[in-house]
Amino acid sequence: MLSANEQLRYSRQLLIKGFTETQQLALKNATVLIVGLGGLGNPAALYLAGAGIGRLILADGDNIDVSNLQRQIIFHTEQVGENKATIAGQHLQQLNPEIDIEVIDEMIDQEQLDYYLNEVDLVLDCSDNLATRYAINEACVSHKTPLITGAAIRFEGQLLVIDPRQETSACYQCFYPKTKGEPALNCETAGVMGPILGVIGSMQALEAIKLLTNKTTSINKIKMFDGLAGQWQEFNLIKRAECICSDTNLTKLV
Ligand SMILES: [Zn+2]
Repeated sequence: MLSANEQLRYSRQLLIKGFTETQQLALKNATVLIVGLGGLGNPAALYLAGAGIGRLILADGDNIDVSNLQRQIIFHTEQVGENKATIAGQHLQQLNPEIDIEVIDEMIDQEQLDYYLNEVDLVLDCSDNLATRYAINEACVSHKTPLITGAAIRFEGQLLVIDPRQETSACYQCFYPKTKGEPALNCETAGVMGPILGVIGSMQALEAIKLLTNKTTSINKIKMFDGLAGQWQEFNLIKRAECICSDTNLTKLV
């Protein structure tokens, strides 16, 4: 049952046809791990806290830098130097006192991922480096935990929903195999326009809400956003037989 306070707080989404107290309770009973509280993690976490995800685990070992403030919309100038996950946690708790927030103020490692994925319904990959992306993807594949991964650079963004509970679901390594190596460009070298992160981070939050409330989400599709053209494109992603996500290879991870 939702309390009167919760009924009021979530009234605008409870008004939506097909979104009932059952869906709201599904959000309330959910635990979501957000890895990276930067440009993507900020908007994603704000929307998920607002929507009433019952337990949010925020992981980020970085401290706020003045160059983050152009796009990391939770943080203020006087918070420069403080840990991102800690400050985001305080902000989100003020936004919604009804939810539980847990902070991991260090770079999440394989051991922590294995520990937390036992109690997490969904992971948002809002990280900014390939090593973390691979570690999250591998942990999600081996724990059969859904993963929503986002990325952005310059005026472009991309989104991928992975659901290892479904046998046919491809994974991040199907899209970007380890053999490809580190991409030549990233936010630090090529830059990124703030609102692009807002678009992709918001899409990650939306897909999370859909996934947790059993609304349709599309696996095996790469969604690319071209901010200059204002257009989305969708590409099919094939599950690769030699990838870690194929059943025969899965045992190697465990
Ligand atoms: Zn794969």
